[in-house]
Amino acid sequence: MIEIDGSMGEGGGAVLRTALALGAVSGQPIHIFNIRAGRDKPGLQAQHLHGVEALAKITGAELRGAMLNSTELTFIPGEIQAGRYHVDIGTAGSTTLILQILMPAVAFASGPVDIEIRGGTDNPMAPPIDYLKNVTIPILRRMGYRGEVECLRRGHYPRGGGIVRAKIEPVEQFKSISLVNQGKILRVAGVAHAVRLPPRVATRIAHAASLELLKSLRAPVDIRCESYQIEQDPHLGPGAGLTIWAETDSGAIIGTSSLGEPGKPSEKVGREAALDLIVQLRTGGACDRYLSDQLIPYLALAEGTSEITCTSLTSHTITNIELVRRILGVDIEVFGELGRPGKITVTGIGFKKTDKS
Ligand code: ATP
Repeated sequence: MIEIDGSMGEGGGAVLRTALALGAVSGQPIHIFNIRAGRDKPGLQAQHLHGVEALAKITGAELRGAMLNSTELTFIPGEIQAGRYHVDIGTAGSTTLILQILMPAVAFASGPVDIEIRGGTDNPMAPPIDYLKNVTIPILRRMGYRGEVECLRRGHYPRGGGIVRAKIEPVEQFKSISLVNQGKILRVAGVAHAVRLPPRVATRIAHAASLELLKSLRAPVDIRCESYQIEQDPHLGPGAGLTIWAETDSGAIIGTSSLGEPGKPSEKVGREAALDLIVQLRTGGACDRYLSDQLIPYLALAEGTSEITCTSLTSHTITNIELVRRILGVDIEVFGELGRPGKITVTGIGFKKTDKS
């Protein structure tokens, strides 16, 4: 049994997700305590509990102590089973964070896995669905990951009701990746969305972001607007946001996002993401500050040595590094300081389905 102190690093939901995802892939039981001790409302909230329960179901795991607000649980994984699964978070909790806990394990299932999740698709402090689809998954595919994700309906805080569908095919093993040089920017792409709001909201967000990007970058900008006539809008509540990403000639995809809120001008939403992308691009890093932590589990499982540079070494990244060292015994070198651009070298364990302990 591997013991994990959930208060490590930033002491948030990511410690729980990474620890259980790695336990599920490698077949090692995990006991985690102090779950989300660093947060205002510690313990398992709806999104975390649904993620843990879905992972237990798909991996035939025995789960002890998992209930709302619980700060301790034991996860004893079994066989990862192919099939169709449904998760209804019941709140606006993030659908993409549910996928974050499930995605490593389902890649090693006995066959294809189809998952439909209801909840939030565009949440603060979580990957927006457009980021997962256009940044994380395309980079993972280069490592051999075989998955795709679709947003069937958006969901925002507080009403949720978004629907996301993921289809994942099994892999034999992940390949290493080199994402060191940022390269030349070929284009900046993006999606601005507005639901249950006047369609001009999305247009104004996209326009403000494009103006800001064109002032600083010598690259074409192509931001798609997604909005609806209010009378025919299928969404449960209002919401707006923007996800943008730069694609470069070295194969890097560097992204960021911003969300609307009541009283926040559309122009501010657009400029916020644009300025953040510009700042990150100036560091020369090839992975943005979100992708860096999200890639660590996959780099650790992959065959061979991977190298990445990141626009900022975040505490989430350092925590994930610590977890893969502890759970998989992986050799990782980190160059740089917390909150500054950095470089990470990971010699993966070359995990294969047949290696399960
Ligand atoms: P808690 O509920 O304890 O606050 P959490 O479950 O929301 O935690 P975190 O521990 O904060 O999760 O982890 C958030 C995850 O979402 C990280 O992997 C981070 O990279 C990712 N993330 C956060 N914001 C964005 C964003 N704007 N774009 C892409 N990914 C993001």
